[in-house]
Amino acid sequence: MDGKNGYNKGEGIPKEASTIRTNFHSHTTRCQHATGRDEQYVTAAIAAGYAQLGMSDHGPWPYGDGYVSGIRMRLDEFPGYLASARALKEKYREQIAIYVGLESEYYPAYSGWLAEQAEAERLDFLILGSHFDRPDEDIYFGGITQPHQLYRYARHTILGLRSGLYCCLAHPDLFMLNYPAFDEDCAVISRDIAQAARDLGIPLEYNLSGLYPQSWRRGPGYPAAGFWQIAAQEGASAIIGLDAHDPGRYADTHLYDQAVRDLAQLGINRVDSLVPCRMGKRLAV
Ligand SMILES: [Zn+2]
Ligand SMILES: [Zn+2]
Repeated sequence: MDGKNGYNKGEGIPKEASTIRTNFHSHTTRCQHATGRDEQYVTAAIAAGYAQLGMSDHGPWPYGDGYVSGIRMRLDEFPGYLASARALKEKYREQIAIYVGLESEYYPAYSGWLAEQAEAERLDFLILGSHFDRPDEDIYFGGITQPHQLYRYARHTILGLRSGLYCCLAHPDLFMLNYPAFDEDCAVISRDIAQAARDLGIPLEYNLSGLYPQSWRRGPGYPAAGFWQIAAQEGASAIIGLDAHDPGRYADTHLYDQAVRDLAQLGINRVDSLVPCRMGKRLAV
């Protein structure tokens, strides 16, 4: 697959019509804030011409204190998630390549558990969704408004990247959801994150979900231009992600194709697949 642009010279198809679409950020209703049946995500992806679909619902945690998260699958739903994903992978194998993964936080207390799950269940990939830095979820990084919180986000996220568990950083510019404007502090942490990702060979996700109207959002949101200019300068790689919480997102191919053009204009290296994920090798560390 041509990770650069998917342009098929031989048949003279215009670049836009022949873009190879892939998505490794796709949810299910188990996370309690998505809609649609698992199969609808797959059929929507096929209808929109996607070649690869990575299922990456918000992963469960073995909370020891009875805590119940309202934004992730429960631990007892994990087997059903895997069974559903694998059944769909088999059923649609002629039409789309399906990979089975999770979007998970970096919670050091549970990292060993996550690594064990990934290996035991032979997950294809893990993406780091760095929304919180503690299992009690006291500060949501999409809600921060203060510079010191930016540094807390960056420190934690970079440690997560270095853990070796994940092969992509989801919405690296999450901190811009409610932060008032892209300032000097934003530039500093963007550079730190981009350099860490580059050095580790981990692509940063150009997340399209921020392009949809969300009434609760008060800041500039993402993709944040300031972040991506720095990521391009630093030589980081990007992968487009839908962060689909609704099968309907797959039909919005104009956004995907616009993102391809945006990233090309930035001059950033774009990858279109997370597999094979290097996670497996790093897990041995
Ligand atoms: Zn979500
Ligand atoms: Zn997500």
